[in-house]
Amino acid sequence: MSLTECYSCAREAEFGALPRYQRIVVDEHWRVVHAVDCALPGWLVLLPRRHVESMAELTAAEAASLGGWLVRLARAVEAVTGCAKAYVAQFGEAEGFAHLHFHVVPRGAELDVELRGPRVFGLLRAGDRAVPEDRMDEIGLRVAAALETGLVTDPATTR
Ligand SMILES: [Zn+2]
Repeated sequence: MSLTECYSCAREAEFGALPRYQRIVVDEHWRVVHAVDCALPGWLVLLPRRHVESMAELTAAEAASLGGWLVRLARAVEAVTGCAKAYVAQFGEAEGFAHLHFHVVPRGAELDVELRGPRVFGLLRAGDRAVPEDRMDEIGLRVAAALETGLVTDPATTR
């Protein structure tokens, strides 16, 4: 696959023009976005800022920060959405989305049993039911604020 066919690299190439929900928080190695065409508010995606298609291709520096990002995002998703827990999943099988990415999915207490576990991916490709862009932007601001204000604290420091 060429980089021009990669959705994530195409967005990275226009970074300065991205809407808030496409650059909720970023660092040197990672970018956090709200999942697009998704029916579940608060469904986040963590992406490396260069094209790799397998975890095995991550550098030591990327690998070193990955765990911290996933844990902070799980805390942020739980704080912002009030969900029961955050799922984390990585597949990269959809056409145009082979770029390594980690789903951080708010699994609410009210989520239908039929949509729990891997079946939650039935909430993607949502079409008319997709979370609107202004809502994704608003959630993005709240996630960024949760990460910045210490709302997302390390349990080890508070217990
Ligand atoms: Zn890519």
